[in-house]
Amino acid sequence: VSFGYEDVDPQEKTQRVGAVFSNVARKYDIMNDAMSGGMHRVWKDRFVRRVKPQPGEAILDMAGGTGDIAFRMAARGAEVVVADINQDMLDVGIERAMERGIDGLSWSCQNAETLSYPSGQFDAYTIVFGIRNVTHIDKALAEAHRVLRPGGRFYCMEFGTTDWPGFKEIYDLYSHQIMPKLGKAIANDEDSYRYLAESIRRFPLAHEFEAMIKDAGFRNTRVEKILGGAVNNHSGWKV
Ligand code: SAM
Repeated sequence: VSFGYEDVDPQEKTQRVGAVFSNVARKYDIMNDAMSGGMHRVWKDRFVRRVKPQPGEAILDMAGGTGDIAFRMAARGAEVVVADINQDMLDVGIERAMERGIDGLSWSCQNAETLSYPSGQFDAYTIVFGIRNVTHIDKALAEAHRVLRPGGRFYCMEFGTTDWPGFKEIYDLYSHQIMPKLGKAIANDEDSYRYLAESIRRFPLAHEFEAMIKDAGFRNTRVEKILGGAVNNHSGWKV
């Protein structure tokens, strides 16, 4: 099985990414805890503190998956649309929201590259661990810019490449050896987790990605590095 990190037709990549997330949807949350040692919760809390959602604000949580970011923003009173290309991920999120009694969220199956929303609709746009899976990142960024109102904020958290001495070797070993094995042990799915590890390695460096955010028209861009850049928080403003 191949998973789209080779040179494949873009449409094929989109389909393969779709298959990965359909395969992992049911085990997605437990895998996140296992793979990050629970750290993803801390990163997500930190991300949402940065976004500072205000009561009544309209926020698009793109590639929102099973709702982790949206739940945190809704708890602060924002009106959140969770959009994702994968209905299986959204279905798990809808179930989780019902179990937790979380109201006020809408769920929508959308490709980040071609959003169905009118321009200027949202106060903020968030995308967490999602953009590296998008086939044409520049199109997704252009759409983010379009659907935000003037003064709207863009926030993206994504894995990156750390520059801490020694960390890189450990991190490479972890993502190439341990992540697929954990995927096999917990979700019986080694290939999907090999794809996810590989997609991290292939994602642009933080300063390259920041340049892409600027190219899409965002201003006052910033990057906050976590663990020396293993995780990066990017932000920008639509003026
Ligand atoms: N944001 C959630 C979180 O942090 O828990 C989910 C992140 S999950 C690693 C990545 C998500 O990106 C998946 O749910 C996947 O379906 C979605 N995705 C991949 N390509 C997409 C696209 N082109 N448009 C929208 N969502 C996409």
